[in-house]
Amino acid sequence: MLLFVQPHNLQDVGPVHSHLEPDTDQQRPSRNFRVPVNLECRCPREQQSAYPLCFLHHPEVIRMVTGQPNLLDTLCTGSYLDVKKTVHWFCALVRASWRRLPQSCSWELALLPSKRSCNLRLTNSQESFQVSVLFGVRRQGSDIFISSRSRGARTPSTMWPETYTMAETKFFRHAARQVPQDSSYLKCLQLLTGVLARKDFSAQAIKTVVMHLLNTLPAAQWHRRYFLLQPSDILEQLRLSLEEKHLEHFIVGNQRLLQEIRLPPNIQRAGPPNLFHGLVQDPAAHSQAMQAYCDLCQRLARVLAYGHC
Ligand SMILES: [Zn+2]
Repeated sequence: MLLFVQPHNLQDVGPVHSHLEPDTDQQRPSRNFRVPVNLECRCPREQQSAYPLCFLHHPEVIRMVTGQPNLLDTLCTGSYLDVKKTVHWFCALVRASWRRLPQSCSWELALLPSKRSCNLRLTNSQESFQVSVLFGVRRQGSDIFISSRSRGARTPSTMWPETYTMAETKFFRHAARQVPQDSSYLKCLQLLTGVLARKDFSAQAIKTVVMHLLNTLPAAQWHRRYFLLQPSDILEQLRLSLEEKHLEHFIVGNQRLLQEIRLPPNIQRAGPPNLFHGLVQDPAAHSQAMQAYCDLCQRLARVLAYGHC
């Protein structure tokens, strides 16, 4: 579950974010942003400091009236929206509000420790399930968001990685309308990511290959009667990409993307990042990835022959 922080929601409580700042550290993979948050003056024009509930000019009055610390201190580090603080604030809100909900009579709520998402476990006498709430900011009314999702253990807490989940979901919905009713590309994708054992290349790489193929192969080729051929097409494309150490991002810089997927102008104009960029300068990582590819092929062959790895 992704909870989106809309600018107007922030505006209601005082601070607003004006624009996103791209992270310029080339060492970090993927596109990351920081969210500057500024306090906005609510005083009448020409009468600075006249409005007693102005967040900018009278923070001490706001603190006295609400009994709460300054929202900037609660949610930000310096003047940047902080993932850990946002998670902490939201979890405290859930904890404080839970008892007021009728569901609290029959369900037990536990908040599980996590730095970049709010993880809830709900249990009753018969069942138990977990919900992971991620936080996001929408980019300029588009289908692209920045989210609190982690990009590894060293992701700074003011760093918000760009996420393409919404745009990809729109693409898959469109693909579902184009391919024959009995198509099997999703089954194929599940099969391949299910047998993927190592993390030398990610499930995202396989998903990217599938999206590129869906965008280029004739729709009829995804009919389930060709199911056994489809994994071969995907694996062949993956092998070529690994050998060339080049796999273009499907969303960023893709000039053949559907019109209905709304992108911020700088994503449309950007050159497509190479998802296998890390393999270019690192022969050891490249041979590991090729080995992982061979393992994937063998595991897939065993699954197709015996039903298990
Ligand atoms: Zn003011």
